[in-house]
Amino acid sequence: LSEEESEVLDRIEREDIDFLRLQFTDILGTVKNVSVPADQAEKAFTEGIYFDGSSIEGFVRIQESDMRLKPDASTFAVLPWRDTSARLICDVFNTSTGEAFKGDPRAVLQDALDRADEMGYEVNAAPEPEFFLFEEDEEGRATTKTNDAGGYFDVAPKDLASDVRRDIIYGLEEMGFDIEASHHEVAEGQHEINFEYDDALSTADNVATFRTVVRAIAAQHDLHATFMPKPIAKVNGSGMHVHLSLFTDDGENVFHDEGDEFNLSETAKQFTAGILNHAPALAAVTNPTVNSYKRLVPGYEAPVYVAWSDRNRSALIRKPAARVPAASRIEARFPDPSCNPYLAFAVLIHAGLDGIESGADCPDPIRENIYEFDEEKREEYGIDTLPTNLGEAIDALEADEMVYDALGPHVGPKFVEAKRAEFADYLVDVSDWELDRYLETF
Ligand code: GLN
Ligand code: MG
Ligand code: MG
Ligand code: MG
Repeated sequence: LSEEESEVLDRIEREDIDFLRLQFTDILGTVKNVSVPADQAEKAFTEGIYFDGSSIEGFVRIQESDMRLKPDASTFAVLPWRDTSARLICDVFNTSTGEAFKGDPRAVLQDALDRADEMGYEVNAAPEPEFFLFEEDEEGRATTKTNDAGGYFDVAPKDLASDVRRDIIYGLEEMGFDIEASHHEVAEGQHEINFEYDDALSTADNVATFRTVVRAIAAQHDLHATFMPKPIAKVNGSGMHVHLSLFTDDGENVFHDEGDEFNLSETAKQFTAGILNHAPALAAVTNPTVNSYKRLVPGYEAPVYVAWSDRNRSALIRKPAARVPAASRIEARFPDPSCNPYLAFAVLIHAGLDGIESGADCPDPIRENIYEFDEEKREEYGIDTLPTNLGEAIDALEADEMVYDALGPHVGPKFVEAKRAEFADYLVDVSDWELDRYLETF
């Protein structure tokens, strides 16, 4: 056992942990658990825990269903809402080959990080997930009724949900999160919690954990927390902006350049250009639901146009002000919290690295509000738009070899298949909007 693994065994003993939840995600980003008695911990570290992967979304075919979970000791955390259980995030291995399973989203992100490593970079990421808190009805089912009437950065007494948010933050801190800030968002019932940047793998783990913790603690207050991107039409939706930067292994931020007008190095600009060039295909992964595209419309602080800016928030990528060189970074504003964080980070990183490798040309930043541009002006500036629905995004993904390959040979095809089915199901549905509009008109 490694030192870290022995430390986990000690903590299990000391803190009276009875159960371990071995956690991983399917390709859609849903967190899965295998629960084992805590006395299995040593075996989990040495041999791994076997499970049948055939029922996990997008994992394996029936005839090759044996998988092995190997916990990452650095992810040990006691669950605040059930303090005799602890979770460990796992890598998934193929029992027959003994190799990392290509269908494990964590392995897909690891591949992206390996590519960065070969180029001499470590990737840092920090997300800003937004979510809504809704009331439950008498049967305990989620409604879209908000429990407060707060607005952006409002404080009590209007921000009645701040108690819930405080409990959520305590819960996250108990699980080892460094919370940077939290605030009420623009819409009623909408919140945002920012956590400290970390290496991209830890951050993806954190996002997966975050959604579970937020939902569990909200439920203790009889509230439903949702990361659905646009639960209410015509008010702001929920994004998950992702801040990214590259560091050398001796801790130097390669995105920073003191002499540049925006304090961005050539490398940072090439990385930005890589993301812009692949944006339509990336959207299929960073904005992977039918509902994601209801958020990506003009007027609600979500991006629509493929451009970057050092100022305004209608652009796909923003360069936030940085007080110290280490904080020079770019902010991808299109991802939403319904994405699989491992896959979303993986494709963003590959696209950025591709921009660096190919020496991609970064356009000038757009400093005006692009929402107000007409088509002519957009053409003049050469600004493309994001896909307008999930179907278009999947088409773009299939047409973009680099992004499709970034998902790996297992996840790529399974992801496209699952998302095509989801979109086809949506297309045959008859919505409330249609009934309201047509039922009595025709
Ligand atoms: N809710 C907005 C979005 O969809 C972001 C608002 C903000 O953080 N200023 O991305
Ligand atoms: Mg924010
Ligand atoms: Mg926000
Ligand atoms: Mg932001």
